[in-house]
Amino acid sequence: MPPYTKCDLSIQARFAELPQGGKIMAEYIWVGGNGELRCKTRTLEAKDAKAAPADLPIWNFDGSSTEQAPGDDSEVLLKPCAVYKDPFRPGSDNILVLCDCYKPDPDGPRGLGEPIPTNTRAECEKIMTKIKAAEPWFGIEQEYTLFEPDKKTPYGWPKNGEPGPQGPYYCSIGTENAFGRAVCEAHYKACLYAGINISGINGEVMPGQWEYQVGPCTGIESPDQLLASRYLLIRVCEQYGVVVSFDPKPIPGDWNGAGCHTNVSTKEMRAEGGYEAIKKAMERLGAPGKQEEHIQAYDPSGGLDNQRRLTGAHETASYKEFSWGVANRGCSVRIPRMTEKEKKGYFEDRRPASNMDPYIVTGKIMETTVLPDFQ
Ligand code: ADP
Ligand code: MN
Ligand code: MN
Ligand code: MN
Ligand code: MN
Repeated sequence: MPPYTKCDLSIQARFAELPQGGKIMAEYIWVGGNGELRCKTRTLEAKDAKAAPADLPIWNFDGSSTEQAPGDDSEVLLKPCAVYKDPFRPGSDNILVLCDCYKPDPDGPRGLGEPIPTNTRAECEKIMTKIKAAEPWFGIEQEYTLFEPDKKTPYGWPKNGEPGPQGPYYCSIGTENAFGRAVCEAHYKACLYAGINISGINGEVMPGQWEYQVGPCTGIESPDQLLASRYLLIRVCEQYGVVVSFDPKPIPGDWNGAGCHTNVSTKEMRAEGGYEAIKKAMERLGAPGKQEEHIQAYDPSGGLDNQRRLTGAHETASYKEFSWGVANRGCSVRIPRMTEKEKKGYFEDRRPASNMDPYIVTGKIMETTVLPDFQ
């Protein structure tokens, strides 16, 4: 790993407040060929800091370097879809520009052709547009695990062994329990500054594992914000010299896995008597074939990553069958106690893996539970 001590961040900080001559830095962010986040920066005019995504320039990158295009026709286009403030370059209205990826087409709108195969946002947007009147909200609980740069030792764990068994670590305090809080705190602040609707953080059951929640957000804003929040987390970790893993079962054995519980409601579910709509959603999620279909969509390996996590132990339900229950953390879907009591509210799909694609997951849940009402 690089010698971080020589890249002293306090030296970089001396440059942060320098004026930028009427220009801003715009960090274009996209999902690469294997689900990884990529970025590169360009200079824009100061007035662009307030521009809507559709008014920001379309840009391009070398898709042959990200396994997203062949070398002889390598250009992939970046279409801005959401803008956030850049917490890593404070002071001059610098921005983060989340994009999705398209093939070029000189005859297409703004020179854009079809979405490239790894663009899962385009399909999600189609679904969200069809069901817009349902006003879906999502609250996503992103769990993650910090590692030493060797990517083998969870942060704070002994080099060649394991810490004491699970129990004291969840929502813990203290040097002996809470490993890496600085990362979690810095990320929280970075999200708030950026304009991410982060709703909280907590220490997790496995030591070195943490969680934050993004939401409630409406429609496609939810997966957009979740991706932006992951970007911020990876960049914060880069500064601390630790590695973040989104693997759903980073350490085998008697250690909790990492998920991305997805809390869901529609306007109807949130209104008086909305419990009926929630029960209808449970019926649809439990219909023949649906469990397999959803498990396939809930991690980037067609369900294989999640099989290591959804064992039926460690606060999970087996990936093999669908179940739902009130206040039951051993079910595929949990209905909060309050929702049952008030006969309105939301449900929590506990199946999505920590490394899930939020466009696929939110789209899939809407396709199964809400879209049938619009056809
Ligand atoms: P848990 O009790 O499972 O740990 P958390 O508090 O971590 O739940 O996360 C719950 C998430 O659900 C939060 O992001 C919260 O904002 C979100 N949420 C709350 N109400 C709703 C709702 N009606 N629809 C969708 N999401 C919601
Ligand atoms: Mn170049
Ligand atoms: Mn939670
Ligand atoms: Mn959790
Ligand atoms: Mn949860």
